[in-house]
Amino acid sequence: MKILVTNDDGIFAPGLWALVKELKSIAPVVVVAPDREQSAIGTAVTLRQPLRAQKMRPAVPGVEAYSVEGTPADSVILALDKLAEGKIDVVVSGINHGANLGDDVLISGTVGAALQGYLHGLPSVAISVVFGDNLHLDNAARLAALLVKKIGTNALPTNTFLNVNLPNLPLTEIKGARVTRLASESHTDTVEESHDGRRRYYWLIRQGLNKDTDKKTDIWAIEQGNISLTPLHTTLLNKPSPPIPSNLCSDLLRELRE
Ligand code: MN
Repeated sequence: MKILVTNDDGIFAPGLWALVKELKSIAPVVVVAPDREQSAIGTAVTLRQPLRAQKMRPAVPGVEAYSVEGTPADSVILALDKLAEGKIDVVVSGINHGANLGDDVLISGTVGAALQGYLHGLPSVAISVVFGDNLHLDNAARLAALLVKKIGTNALPTNTFLNVNLPNLPLTEIKGARVTRLASESHTDTVEESHDGRRRYYWLIRQGLNKDTDKKTDIWAIEQGNISLTPLHTTLLNKPSPPIPSNLCSDLLRELRE
């Protein structure tokens, strides 16, 4: 078994190396991660410019490490196709410094990297800790190791694509662990407008999490002090799509031809 570790906080992020330190006790680890922070870059893939990768001296000895001038998803694609020696069996992305809950999985670079693993047919785990002072990375790293072991012994399905979040609490204060679904409408964005004397500019401001959500969601689980494990798949929406009138296609075609 060989583990690919990546993230979206960049190759120097403490969360990445906390994860590596724990995972290397299970199996050989290769680290391929962006050379800088790429949070909220989502599933972006670089197709219109060349990608450069550089072998790095790893912060944890005994692992292969490469930094990529690209996105988290680029890092996974490069790792699987080119950089990693030997076959990769599982992809772990994180530990993200900050939760990835609800709709945010759609813009999360941490989840975007795990998605590439999943699309390549590999069991993949994204793991994040709620942002705060003194991040409890140790719990998340150990949990990731336990999950990888379960993947290795087929206790979890081979098409596992998991989004894991932990509250930033010491282990003794974590209430439990829940299998959840993604909360919807998890955030509100606002735009602040300003002027630098020459031009107008804008800041997108993310408001706090919408905590008005039911007991099956990831946000609820985290708010209650639980670990949240959300199985993902590539039908990304929470809700069934709204029904489309059966005559839509014929109407469109007719109107197009009028
Ligand atoms: Mn991040």
